[in-house]
Amino acid sequence: MTDSYARQSLFQPIGPGGQEKISCASAVVTGCGAVGSAAAEILARSGIGRLKIIDRDIVRLSHLPGQSLFTEKDARDAIPRASAAARTISQFNSEICVEGLAADINCNNIEDLCDGFDVLVDGLDNFETKFLVNEFSVASDVPWVYASVLGSSGTSRVVDPGKTPCLKCLFPDDPAPGSRGTPETCGIINPAIHAIASFQVTQVLRLIVNGEASQEVLSFDLWSGNWMSENSAGEPVADCPCCRNRDFPYLEGRLSDRITSLCGADSVQIVPAVKGKLVNLKELGDRLGKKNISRYNDYLLQAHIDGCELTVFSNGRAIIKGVKDHVEARILYSRFIGN
Ligand SMILES: [Zn+2]
Repeated sequence: MTDSYARQSLFQPIGPGGQEKISCASAVVTGCGAVGSAAAEILARSGIGRLKIIDRDIVRLSHLPGQSLFTEKDARDAIPRASAAARTISQFNSEICVEGLAADINCNNIEDLCDGFDVLVDGLDNFETKFLVNEFSVASDVPWVYASVLGSSGTSRVVDPGKTPCLKCLFPDDPAPGSRGTPETCGIINPAIHAIASFQVTQVLRLIVNGEASQEVLSFDLWSGNWMSENSAGEPVADCPCCRNRDFPYLEGRLSDRITSLCGADSVQIVPAVKGKLVNLKELGDRLGKKNISRYNDYLLQAHIDGCELTVFSNGRAIIKGVKDHVEARILYSRFIGN
């Protein structure tokens, strides 16, 4: 090990021994948007030995204000975010092993993509994939650091299987599609992104150095100045179907969105995994913006946004016209409807 991390090693809770552990450890960042790219950068600058970054999207100009590691040229050349992130990281830290993979994480590939890593770092923008990663974490007994950020608010905690609550303990009812805003529709400020990523990476370092998870939960609203960090992660819920009863519907492919191409058109239909929950179309329309809405009634909402036509039905089903493939349709769904 070089003395690149001398200052970090001087920090007594880490020390040279802890730094050695960090340089031998591995992490996979699932999703390289705002939080994922910030977390990947801090992990790389902390000297994590092996870093994998997985993301399904490409760099867009609209990403640049909030997402580190990318350039205007990446956006013009439509470079996958995972590849651009890995390239930038290798330019400022050639000592670590970094890999960027342009992939849409799902039940068929998560084992191949994430197996063998010491910790999973959440940079995902949708709850369906977060639940999938949560089940993988529990099934594989690998900790992951959940994070969520919107506007100026964020929350993060470590899920250490069997020791802390898992995501299903915290959210026994999967959130309904379109029930929450997204950064695209409600906005986000950069300090919130970096605050949550800083907390996440600190938890990763503590996991690696101390060998155990912190019980700390962070919640904040930076704009109003409410900042809460408490030692309250608690115990897993006694009858949690995931971490207690080991039922893994997302991981085993029994629960997932259904996505199909509609014949004769560049349209893709997405039927979300969560059933029986209605989308509040009026609220969704308000978030998407009046100027983008071309049709609205009790049954559906139609919007023209980012060059695509988005038709959302009250049960969360959506038809997205103008996309080139299923992955692009999923990206649009997560960006503008949210699930
Ligand atoms: Zn649980």
